[in-house]
Amino acid sequence: MARVYNFSSGPAALPEEVLKKAQREMLDWQGVGMSVMEMSHRSKEFISILDAAKKGIRDLLHVPDNYEILFMQGGASTLFAQIPANLAQGFTTVSYLDTGVWSSKAIKEASKYANVNIVASSKEQKYTSVPNLVDWNINPESAYLHIVQNETIGGVEFDQLPETDLPIVADLSSTILSRKIDVSKYALIYAGAQKNIGPVGSVLVIIRNDMLERSQDDLPTVWNFKQLALNDSMINTPPTYSIYLAGLVLEWLLELGGVEQIEQVNIEKARRLYQKIDSSRLYSNPVDPNYRSRMNVPFILADESLNQAFLAEAENAGLKNLSGHRSVGGMRASIYNAMPLSGVDALIEFMSAFERKYGY
Ligand code: PMP
Repeated sequence: MARVYNFSSGPAALPEEVLKKAQREMLDWQGVGMSVMEMSHRSKEFISILDAAKKGIRDLLHVPDNYEILFMQGGASTLFAQIPANLAQGFTTVSYLDTGVWSSKAIKEASKYANVNIVASSKEQKYTSVPNLVDWNINPESAYLHIVQNETIGGVEFDQLPETDLPIVADLSSTILSRKIDVSKYALIYAGAQKNIGPVGSVLVIIRNDMLERSQDDLPTVWNFKQLALNDSMINTPPTYSIYLAGLVLEWLLELGGVEQIEQVNIEKARRLYQKIDSSRLYSNPVDPNYRSRMNVPFILADESLNQAFLAEAENAGLKNLSGHRSVGGMRASIYNAMPLSGVDALIEFMSAFERKYGY
């Protein structure tokens, strides 16, 4: 069996060591005689798995004590609605930065709960940049300010946060654990698991305690942040296997040296790939170099009639899932934590060989 390099944007590649450990533990987790999938979520064994996953997040992201770590369900898309439902009660306005497809989806859901003040938008630049911080028009009456710090489809990423008294709520789905962040600057962070955390099925939420007080009793119980925190993410049956595998990924990352260490590898992977694209006559990336994502690297071919050949030949070379999102076309290489430098080098080598073959 040969494993390929998988450049999918999510569900994405998982570290091979993690998959092997899960395989070893599949039939009998640590001598209990059953798989994690078969355990009661209320058993002391599963509680220890959940606690270890939470501790992994706390250690890797240096999460302060006044934040809860929760594993929710329904994907990050559910949080698009769940966030205004919980945090906007008692407010008429919420503020959103618009930097791409995922921001727009979040805005659409929020507008069902409150008036959305768009603080700034890069739509006119076809979402290839991030509005300058000084141009953000934040409404101080808003319940919170929402940002998507890595737009997975557009390949746009930023890390500067505005100086504001508003609680900052951030979708970090496709950047979490790839770079250092200062959790204390946020009121709520959320991230679907299926990119840098583990398999699909759970959504990580890191929420500051004071935000829990905004959740009112008339919310659906399984949507209520306060109830979720009071019940340790287990109002109902949580996605146990997804949480278990997330725990293994977090353990793997800690052993590698943590976020600080993987960030250096991620910087180097992105540097090499963008350098290849920028020095080519065939490939190009439209994103403002100040805001290029380290995790999702979209690129187009000067001759679009070569797209199919590119994808087919890449696949033959063991480089899979390079096609861009259906809404933008072209190519996209997602190079999350689990993508080793050797995978990026193999892609670069293939891109160069493809250029030579087609006379570029
Ligand atoms: N936000 C971002 C930044 C994403 O990339 C995605 C999925 N690719 C989502 C939200 C939605 O996640 P889900 O499919 O888990 O609902």
